This record gives sequence, C-alpha cells and structure tokens, in this order.
Amino acid sequence: MVFTVENILILILIIIGIVLALIFIYGNNEKSYISREFYSLGTLNQLKVSGRNSNKAINESIKKLCEIDNKMSVFKEDSEISKINKYAGDQARIVSKDTYYVIEKAIKYCSLSKGAFDITIRPIVGLWGIGKEGAKVPNINEIKEKLRAVNYKDIVIDKKNNSIFLKNEKQEIDVGGIAKGFAADEVRNIMLKNKIKSALINLGGNIFAIGTKGDGTEWIVGIQNPLKTRGEFVLTINVINKSVVTSGSYERYFESGGKRFHHIINPSTGYPSESDIMSATIISDNSIDGDGLSTGVYIMGVQKAMKLIEEIKGIDAIFITKNKEVYVTSGLSATVTLTNNEFSYKKLDL
Ligand code: ADP
Ligand code: MG
Repeated sequence: MVFTVENILILILIIIGIVLALIFIYGNNEKSYISREFYSLGTLNQLKVSGRNSNKAINESIKKLCEIDNKMSVFKEDSEISKINKYAGDQARIVSKDTYYVIEKAIKYCSLSKGAFDITIRPIVGLWGIGKEGAKVPNINEIKEKLRAVNYKDIVIDKKNNSIFLKNEKQEIDVGGIAKGFAADEVRNIMLKNKIKSALINLGGNIFAIGTKGDGTEWIVGIQNPLKTRGEFVLTINVINKSVVTSGSYERYFESGGKRFHHIINPSTGYPSESDIMSATIISDNSIDGDGLSTGVYIMGVQKAMKLIEEIKGIDAIFITKNKEVYVTSGLSATVTLTNNEFSYKKLDL
C-alpha cells in the first residue's frame, strides 16, 4: 500500500469506524448493566439495569421500596396497615393512595379466588409465625378461634375518603401476598420514567422484565424446581415486558415432627395449603395481578386454578403439581422450555 494522504485518511476513517462499532457493541452487551442487591420488604432484591440513568433509577427505586415497606409492613408498628389493624372494629383509617390501591386490588383477588386469597388471614399467619424465630405448630383450638375472624368481606373501603375499616376488632390484614407485586410495578414505572429500556427487576422472586436483554433477545426466567434448593429449574420462560410471579411452598417454611409447614395458609382450614400444586406462576403485564393471583391459585389446586386463569384475559399461568406435572394455560404466547426431564406437560379437560 502506498502511503498517500488519501490512503492514510481512509485508514483513519476505518479505524474510527471500528472504534465506534466496538463502543456500540460494548454499550449494548451484558457489561453495561449495573446490578444492585439490597434487602427490603422482608426479602432480598436485585435490580439489573442498563442505560444512562441506571444509578439514578436504582436509587429512586430503593427509596420507593423503603416507603412502601414503611406504609405496608405488618412488622412496623407505625405502618398504615398496622394502624388499620390496631383500630379494627373501632375507627376507619385514612391511608395513602398506594395503600388504598393495594387493598382495593387485594379485595378483587380475594373475591375472584372465592376467599382462597384472603388478606384478613393475618391473625393465623401470626399464630404460625412462619419465617420468624420460634415458629411452631399452633394449638388447633387457637387456630379455630382465630379463623372465625378471617373474612375479607368485612373490609370496608371508602374511595371518597381513601379510608379503610375492619368491621371486627379481632381482624387484622396482611398484604404480604400482594405488596411485592405492587412494588415491582412501581419500580417498573420509575425505570420507564428514567428512560430505561432494558432491566430485570427481582423482588424476592417477583420478577419484572423490562424490554429485551442488551443483545436484543428475550429475557429468560427460570422457574424453580420446588423440590430442590435455589437455582435448579424445572423450566424456563422467555419474556419481554412481562411480570413473572411464583408462589411456592419451598419459599418459607419450618419443619416439625418430620413434616414441613410452609407460609401459604388455606383460609378454610387455618393450616398451610395442601393442594396438589407445588408452585404457581402467573405471567402478566402488571405484577400486582400476578402476585395477588399466585397466592390464591396455589391454594385452589390445579383444576380450579386453570379454570380461573383461563377466564381472565391477558393473564397466563404455569402450575407445577406434586406428581411432577406441568400445566400451562392456553393463551401463553411466551416460549416455555422444559429443562428437567423428571417433569412432563399435562393437559386438563376443563
Ligand atoms: P412470597 O411472599 O413468598 O412471594 P406469596 O406472594 O404467595 O409468597 O405470599 C405469601 C404471604 O402472603 C405469606 O407470607 C403471608 O404473609 C400471606 N398469606 C399467607 N396465606 C395467605 C392467604 N391465604 N391469603 C392472603 N395472604 C396470605
Ligand atoms: Mg402473592
């Protein structure tokens, strides 16, 4: 090659081109993600975010989660939920827009699940103390006594005043089965406001996938093998802009007399649910719907659960049953890949 001015210029342009291409590829690949892990809402959370405003969006999200925890935790005496419980049977409490919205949505899912999901379950959850130090099998009479007050129909909500009232003084609510879904939606909104186009929100297993991965492919979410410890999957599911929420008996439990007692209580017995479902996954556009539904359908059992989800537009589900069968609702367009050959697909005649 002759080193004419023209050739050198061409060479410089080629080098600039290569550098720009490398910057572009680097900017779009895995390494440009910022990942932050932190404890909030009683669980470990992870935000994996790509984009110029990543740090700002993560900081705003953590602040919002802390706010939600302060308003809705039953373990915080000053939370709005604790105040509703404290004044049960006595006074209606004015609450924030967030708390009102979560309770209003929760009541919708209590009703849709015909009381399998019931946020007035708190006195029973407290009795079992699952997930806390000193969890024990309660006395059956105590369970029966507390069960009498469980009834979501006694929650009086007043939209005009933004107030909540429990009719019976023995009643207490617990939004632990739905608040993480609300929180994931709030984080999603913060991300979008910050023009984030690609992120994976994981609030203790409550997943929201924003956009695609940096390389333009779908996010792949693994569904945990309920019989194994964390990190072993039964299947994977490819998603873009979707919430994936799973309720399972393997999440929180204690053992006593060789029997496992987990944290999802059947409101008709007061004992941990013993349905045929080991894990219930809901795929939806909003995580509050996924969280509110996953706990209830887990209790309902696969027959009723499939029927209910098939009837709700825009919501899909994957159930893994105790006999290692996998049920997928008919509307699910996402690619589901079975990764464990001990499990097999099964269909139901509904
Ligand atoms: P996780 O919190 O493990 O993601 P879930 O969304 O299924 O799981 O919520 C379980 C929590 O919901 C429990 O820890 C308890 O606080 C509450 N809960 C348990 N049983 C019920 C029920 N039948 N209806 C409503 N909430 C429940
Ligand atoms: Mg839930």
